[in-house]
Amino acid sequence: MRIAAAWAGLALLALSACGPMGPAAVTEARLASADNEPGNWMSHGRTYSEERYSQLDEINTENVGQLGLAWSYEMRVPRGAEATPIVVDGVMYVTSAWSIVYALDATTGEELWVFDPDVPRERGASACCDVGNRGVAVWNGKVYVGTLDGRLIALNARDGAKVWETITVDQSRPYTITGAPRAARGLIYIGNGGAEFGVRGYVSAYDAESGELRWRFYTTPNPREPDNAASDSVRDAALATWNPTTGAWLESGGGGTAWDAIVYDNETDTLWIGVGNGSPWNRDIRSPNVEGRNNDNLYLSSVVGVDPDTGAYKCHYQETPGETWDYTATQPIMLSTLQIEGRERRVLMHAPKNGFFYVIDRENCGLISAGSIATQTWASGVDMATGRPIENADARYAAGTAIVLPSPFGAHNWHPMSMSRRTGLVYIPVQELAQDYTADPAFVYRPGRWNTGTVHAPLPSDRATRAAIRNTMHGYLLAWDPVAQREAWRVELGAPWNGGTLATAGDLVFQGTLDGRFRAYNARTGEQLWEYDNQAATMGGPITYSVGGDQYVASLASYGTLWFLPAGFGVADPPREPVNARVNVFRIGGTASLPPRNLVRLPMERPPTLRASQATLAQGAAGYTAFCSVCHGTGAVSGGVLPDLRRAPSLQDANVWRDTVHGARAANGMPDFTQWVTASDAEAIRAYVANEAQALYAEEQARPQ
Ligand code: CA
Repeated sequence: MRIAAAWAGLALLALSACGPMGPAAVTEARLASADNEPGNWMSHGRTYSEERYSQLDEINTENVGQLGLAWSYEMRVPRGAEATPIVVDGVMYVTSAWSIVYALDATTGEELWVFDPDVPRERGASACCDVGNRGVAVWNGKVYVGTLDGRLIALNARDGAKVWETITVDQSRPYTITGAPRAARGLIYIGNGGAEFGVRGYVSAYDAESGELRWRFYTTPNPREPDNAASDSVRDAALATWNPTTGAWLESGGGGTAWDAIVYDNETDTLWIGVGNGSPWNRDIRSPNVEGRNNDNLYLSSVVGVDPDTGAYKCHYQETPGETWDYTATQPIMLSTLQIEGRERRVLMHAPKNGFFYVIDRENCGLISAGSIATQTWASGVDMATGRPIENADARYAAGTAIVLPSPFGAHNWHPMSMSRRTGLVYIPVQELAQDYTADPAFVYRPGRWNTGTVHAPLPSDRATRAAIRNTMHGYLLAWDPVAQREAWRVELGAPWNGGTLATAGDLVFQGTLDGRFRAYNARTGEQLWEYDNQAATMGGPITYSVGGDQYVASLASYGTLWFLPAGFGVADPPREPVNARVNVFRIGGTASLPPRNLVRLPMERPPTLRASQATLAQGAAGYTAFCSVCHGTGAVSGGVLPDLRRAPSLQDANVWRDTVHGARAANGMPDFTQWVTASDAEAIRAYVANEAQALYAEEQARPQ
């Protein structure tokens, strides 16, 4: 309590001192000593180390049970709230889906301004995993956001007016930005996504004041010519790890998109980049093996360190050589100093999708240790002599279907982990679910569309089978000792895909869940001390801050963020209208309340009865799985944001259905599949969906009103 009060005094001093400079007057010096301002949360991971640890302890294990809602702010769209809010001197800057930026009074939730970059809705068709956004950077009175359509925009923090805007990608290709920019060295760093569709990844650095491009580092080599970019110095080294003449990577660009972790290390003066998966996923299609030639495909699935001022390569560690399972290394990167075998080591800690927890030396990218935080069937461990995984030979699905853990959802994904400096533990949202991988025997590169080089079995229609599959997957909050590479405790959460974590000096860990519970745990034991019903998936990184001596804890709740993941498995099958995302903020003794839960049941027309053969239904199921399931839900069950096709009016009419598949609703974000889905394929898909709809209709009729 005393610490918080003392810091409140300082915050007031800071306010008056910074008055003439205006809001969000964040500088390199302030960010470098962010630990001296625990009341603020000035950058994505709170400090440059991105440990997401707060020294605030007004809220602690003794009183957390008295936490109540202080305020709730309704955002303008229902989907995909994935952001970590930023709070500087009493103002919160936060984003929603469609890259919309909101500035709010951090004590009341009063809206100060909103900036909508008006992302064309058809860009949603290029987003693998919803149209979310993970937050802003603030620097020198400006707020920076990367937009889904690949722009980087600087806003005046006072009123949200645009200061400059620049296009960071070739917008004719399926690039997206969902990650938060980072600010350091007078530069704004931003990456991009799109590897599932077919793009080449890179990170760019822009002058914070002018928006001019300063440098760019490509994460895969250009097979044709140098790029005149910072990465040219390692082009030959990277090229030596790819098939130089054959493979889909020559068209797709190879992937390696850096869509989340970009972390500035002010202790070793390095910018750390987490690099994504290959494009296509399937290495045999992406870059076929050549006898005697290395085929690791640098720098896919690697952590790469570059000079923050020039982008010049420093070192790298590749976590999944020859990536073939969508095992990104984009997950949040955390910097720390650990006592290891009697020595202080500056380390980077990383829990990528592949299921290992890596401790890496920040001086030279050397591997210090690797532990297993989830069941892995692709590798049995990491060979400490070579730093390479010890692979299970069958995992690469060269000889047929392989069922592999982790899945493309990862043992850990973008949901931020945190570390307590009091317990020394890292708190990680972990999940276990399997994926079947089969090489696509008929692969053709489809520009702008899903290009993974794999096919996956349709989800069986039978509800009991679905339930059995669901019961094989689960998520848990894991407290991990990074020095011993050992579990300290875990809390089972049932469904996978749970939210990021926050650790505080009150010995608390905060985390949200897929089913909308926002919880506080004892950081030492995992005992649950508090829970609030946020009424929607609570995914992003929670934060804490203080204003006027009062500590607050903030969380975001929304539909979306891979809502389709659990839907087909019956975890979520909401027969109700989606509601807008919310920022929910808590304090001791808070007495606000959320509006009553929206239980409006969606109407359902009787689905058409289509006489289709088993062969047609199977053709439709395969087509649905290949082209529709990523957005409309596994097994034709939507999670409630994009239309559940079983309820779609277009299901009633073959012509309307076909026209929709063939581009009639492109402006709303429904891709035009004319090139890939024939009219007869579309009708087979309609038969499959109608069949699924009959089962749903029967259930709805039987359900009490
Ligand atoms: Ca991916």
